[in-house]
Amino acid sequence: MASKIKKIGVITSGGDAPGMNAAIRAVVRTCAYLKVECVGIYRGYEGMIDGDFKAMDARSVNNIINKGGTILKSARCAEFRTKEGRQKAYDNLKAAGIDAFVVIGGDGSFNGALIFNKEFDIPIIGIPGTIDNDIFGTSSTVGFDTALNTVVEVIDKIRDTASSHNRLFFVEVMGRDVGHIALNAGVGAGAEEILIPEENLGLERLLESLKRSKASGKSSSIVVVAEGDKTGRNVFELKEYVEEHLPIYDVRVSVLGHLQRGGPPSCFDRVLASRMGVRAVEALLEGKTNLMVGIQDNNIILTPISKAIKGHTKIDKELIRVSEIMTT
Ligand code: ADP
Repeated sequence: MASKIKKIGVITSGGDAPGMNAAIRAVVRTCAYLKVECVGIYRGYEGMIDGDFKAMDARSVNNIINKGGTILKSARCAEFRTKEGRQKAYDNLKAAGIDAFVVIGGDGSFNGALIFNKEFDIPIIGIPGTIDNDIFGTSSTVGFDTALNTVVEVIDKIRDTASSHNRLFFVEVMGRDVGHIALNAGVGAGAEEILIPEENLGLERLLESLKRSKASGKSSSIVVVAEGDKTGRNVFELKEYVEEHLPIYDVRVSVLGHLQRGGPPSCFDRVLASRMGVRAVEALLEGKTNLMVGIQDNNIILTPISKAIKGHTKIDKELIRVSEIMTT
């Protein structure tokens, strides 16, 4: 049976992530391939409420697969949290003939989409786009791999200066609630210690570890700290604490901040986003809704969005073990 869906919207919402453009491109090109119209919705839900739409054909997404950010722009939109705001958004979609949409974003954007679907019964499929990798139902979100590569590259550079001056560096990376970036990039960059929200390493153990490190002949050290680590101290307070208790160390702090979100997506993220974009459009045309596209064991899978936003991603215990062995 032919699908009832004739026109699909694509929207990027919430925090941007590298690879979102590759996902947009995949959605647009899959629509063109399957002869369904595609419309870009600008500035997240804000653009939906303002009717900021533009028809997109296969050529409108030329030369964007390699670009970070999102050509559709993104926004955080308070008005979409109100019934009136969502009604305006729905009226605009209806007027534009948009029958369904693909939302590329994080759990907040998915939550908004679910509420919208419940109220107006418009089919939606999600693509997880966030550097934090904090969404259940996928082993990797679009943007995570690029962020890891960026962090590793920067820490390599910090290590050069750290070892030239025999310094200890605390490097703060993103991850308020989850330590996936810190743990993976920390192992990849050969950090001496990794502090993450999921594990309470404890300040005593940190001091012990740094003492051991010094005694074993290491002249410089890198400690990767996730924003939300459990020591209860921010990275500058950690520096003070260590300097006070271990005056042998000359400590510096580097907060990586927003550079972690930028830059051209890695090959992994481009391929992942392309696969997810294709599956998202196919799923809508198969009559599916309220699902998120994910990757598990290199298979593209669909998970109910309700589970994706409520379920918790678990930190990789095996990787914690590896990191402990590596810091010997
Ligand atoms: P992310 O998608 O990166 O997690 P946010 O949490 O900021 O980012 O969510 C993005 C947008 O999704 C919000 O600005 C808002 O417009 C919409 N949104 C989030 N939660 C809700 C909600 N409970 N109801 C309606 N809209 C929501």
